[in-house]
Amino acid sequence: MSYNTLNEEEEYVIVKKGTERPFTGRFLENKAEGMYVCRRCNAPLFPSDAKFDSGTGWPSFDDIVEGNVSEIPDEDGRRVEIVCTNCGGHLGHVFKGERITEKSTRHCVNSISLDFVEKK
Ligand SMILES: [Zn+2]
Repeated sequence: MSYNTLNEEEEYVIVKKGTERPFTGRFLENKAEGMYVCRRCNAPLFPSDAKFDSGTGWPSFDDIVEGNVSEIPDEDGRRVEIVCTNCGGHLGHVFKGERITEKSTRHCVNSISLDFVEKK
């Protein structure tokens, strides 16, 4: 399986588990209908209807494409990291029990880890 080539900024976030600055990501305000996919391997990760405005400055989703997003304990010992199940690329973190949406789950994702396929 071949992966998309990453630029330096993408590699910093996706491979080295960095975080993009809040309110800078290209998908923060995206309200189009479609599928958010992994920037590195194109696996479908988050449907657009799961996206909501959390006010945090990062794209937020309360649901995933089942099986395609994996949760692992973050190195900081507090948070739960989320990665692409297929390629292991870093996506962001998941927070539960905040009650912002009905599902009470917030997948806080770096725009740079994603690509978007608009529904036609
Ligand atoms: Zn991937």
